[in-house]
Amino acid sequence: MNCIFCKIAAGEIPGEILYQDEEVIAFRDIEPLAPIHLLIIPRRHIPSLTHLSDTDAPLIGHMVIIANQLARDEGIAGSGYRLVINCGEHGGQLVTHLHMHLLGGKRLSDSMG
Ligand code: 5GP
Ligand code: ZN
Repeated sequence: MNCIFCKIAAGEIPGEILYQDEEVIAFRDIEPLAPIHLLIIPRRHIPSLTHLSDTDAPLIGHMVIIANQLARDEGIAGSGYRLVINCGEHGGQLVTHLHMHLLGGKRLSDSMG
């Protein structure tokens, strides 16, 4: 499968990996939009939010908990941060492997759309 995030998860192409376990992996975004910009992804290739099933609820919960842990590790838990999952064309999703953005380290845009 020609998926850039699957390749990062498999170690086939480099990524600045900050956390990994059996379910998820987290690495720095290659084009950061904020001083801290990390991506948290499932190891399993799930194309987007619309491909989640009911049994994936623990996985999404785990991704949020790991994001919170990473925010603490990066020193932005106190100042605040934003978790974003883009979905589909109108949602601005460019990479079709589910990923959660963790953004922080500056005052983020007030705009959500
Ligand atoms: P999306 O727009 O799909 O929500 O976000 C995709 C994100 O993946 C973008 O912020 C982009 O900079 C990041 N990205 C794309 N290709 C790579 C890559 O090869 N390595 C890393 N670390 N990030 C990538
Ligand atoms: Zn993938």
